[in-house]
Amino acid sequence: MAGLGGWYNPRAMAALDLQISALGRIGARCAKSLARLDLRTVGDLLWHLPFRYEDLSHVVTLDRPSAVPVTVKVRIDLIRNRRSARSHMTLTEATVSDERGSAKVVWFRQPFIAKILQPGDRVFLTGKLENRAWGLEMVNPGYERESKDPVHAARLVPIYPSTAGVTPKQLRALLHLSLPAVSTVPDPYDESFLKTHHLLALPTALHAIHFPDSYAAAKEADRRFRFDELLTFQLKGALTRRALAERPAVVVPYAGEAIKDFVKRLPFQLTDDQKKAAWAIIEDMGEGAPMHRLIEGDVGSGKTVVAAIAMYNAALGGFRSLIMAPTEILAEQHYATISKLFKGTGFKVALRTASHKTKLDKADVVVGTHALLTADPSLADAALIVVDEQHRFGVSQRRDLLARFGKGEAVPHFLSMTATPIPRSLALALYGDLKFTAIRQMPVGRRPVTTELVIDGDRANMIAAARAELAKGHGVFVICPLIEASETTESKSVEAESERLKTEFPDTEIVALHGKMKSEAKRRAMEKFQDGSAGILVSTTVVEVGVDVPRATVMIIEGSERFGLAQLHQLRGRVGRSERPSRCFLVAEDASPSALERLEAFIKAKDCFEIAEADLKLRGQGDIFGEDQSGFGELKRFNPSDVELIEETRQAAEEIIEKDPDLTDHQQLKAKVRPEAEKVHLE
Ligand code: ADP
Ligand code: MG
Repeated sequence: MAGLGGWYNPRAMAALDLQISALGRIGARCAKSLARLDLRTVGDLLWHLPFRYEDLSHVVTLDRPSAVPVTVKVRIDLIRNRRSARSHMTLTEATVSDERGSAKVVWFRQPFIAKILQPGDRVFLTGKLENRAWGLEMVNPGYERESKDPVHAARLVPIYPSTAGVTPKQLRALLHLSLPAVSTVPDPYDESFLKTHHLLALPTALHAIHFPDSYAAAKEADRRFRFDELLTFQLKGALTRRALAERPAVVVPYAGEAIKDFVKRLPFQLTDDQKKAAWAIIEDMGEGAPMHRLIEGDVGSGKTVVAAIAMYNAALGGFRSLIMAPTEILAEQHYATISKLFKGTGFKVALRTASHKTKLDKADVVVGTHALLTADPSLADAALIVVDEQHRFGVSQRRDLLARFGKGEAVPHFLSMTATPIPRSLALALYGDLKFTAIRQMPVGRRPVTTELVIDGDRANMIAAARAELAKGHGVFVICPLIEASETTESKSVEAESERLKTEFPDTEIVALHGKMKSEAKRRAMEKFQDGSAGILVSTTVVEVGVDVPRATVMIIEGSERFGLAQLHQLRGRVGRSERPSRCFLVAEDASPSALERLEAFIKAKDCFEIAEADLKLRGQGDIFGEDQSGFGELKRFNPSDVELIEETRQAAEEIIEKDPDLTDHQQLKAKVRPEAEKVHLE
């Protein structure tokens, strides 16, 4: 630091491993919030990519209003704080001007602004320019001192995933300070690879994704990051497929008559599609190669019993099966269902969840949650693993499980089941060796659920319909709106909703359910709703998938505009599970026109396959950086309409692995896929 006289320029210092706190004045609270987002160093920050931009690039003058947010470049003429007589709120009022006119500005509850900005200062202000009786006005505009290189104004302004305790503006300022470090980020690809795949070099792409000059530049940068993400995913997939191809699988023979008897004893007739699916699985398992099959079947189509048949066949051959559910509630339900189906067979079914740690020594079927089962080392001897309702289709579990087996050891068969279908072409491009079965038929006697929008606060009709169903002894689900973690807590939202319902349904017993409840309390709530002693179940999305309460005939979804289509479909699928007619109400009180359009598309779609298509179409048109609703887990920037890029990365991955199977010449890529690579004995 010699010669700097104790002064330093943080920009010059920004190195990838520099702590963020060294970049500037950051409070302890802010640092803690950043840590919550896993942001500790400058390098971490650079990888915290924006998910959209606010277009403030139009710099206008103060001679006309603007209904869309813009930037103005003005001088502060006057600025002062005042206490509002009516609301006791501090208002900061200013008058500003440029060469064409002047405007009034008001900020609510930000008295510090009057200290930061002084008369005579030249600033950028951003926001709408409203036309009032007294002239133009800006309410709560963004502000930044005038400069040649503005960060928060006069440009496409990046919007980052944020959290409580750190403002979007703070994040953006820190990113801007970190930007000089992009030039030191090493690129895992060489020149020719970049050229072949038309990719921006990493430093250029990082710069452009954070502070793009245009949407076109942002889009090109985004392509680079989507490519990276997909390539990593494809490399892992290619490595897993390679490792699997060398492994034998347990051969589970078809038990013939015993299976036929099992099917005969079922309380219903299987649909043809259910029979076909069960048969495909049994056939796969009789071969020496590990099965990887996905059953796509709409909600209520009866996937559980198909899995039960396959597990029964395995048990007859002397093999153990596992079935994993995404939630504890669903695991318990599966446990009850499968125990009933297996009654009298002599085979043992065991439940394994956070609150239920049964011994598994003799269990033929083990039911549990994803997290528990993948973590349990005693389960490596299963011949069949069923993953229910997980949108990642068991790919990561398959890799995790492979890790348990030594070279040359037989590996288990894998079955995923979902009501969230993805187009076959897309799934093939993503997962390569996956096989499909669709269950398109519904059990006989099922009626489609009537779906209606509830807008403009017009709840009377909905309440009347729900009361009528309650009077018949049927059940009503009420789903609370999605809440952002920082806004409020799950339990609060459920409580608030219960209070409201108590006034709307004073004579009905209401039970509540949310993810933060103790397992025992969850079980009690579900039981009361199952057996009808409670008429209404108020819940968060913990009941989103799988829950089977045939007596329920009404589904009310509050704040429905905040849910994804696939999610809405799953939620609606909680009713219409008997021969009784069912109704679903989508409450959408402050939905934008585009949100309403989405909900209309949802109402029109016939089944999950059509919904998947509608979802794709709407997403395809939308904002390229749609806030991750992809449901593809590790693929954060993934856009399902990107089949071409998926194909391209798949081929690139295969080529890389072909030439360099241990990734010795691709150390950076190797580091990204390492956890997986180790599991499949690449090292
Ligand atoms: P999902 O495919 O959504 O997982 P489930 O397996 O939970 O569906 O089945 C939904 C309901 O339909 C259950 O109550 C189940 O007992 C019943 N069911 C399954 N198959 C049939 C069938 N072929 N005929 C009548 N009811 C069936
Ligand atoms: Mg299910």
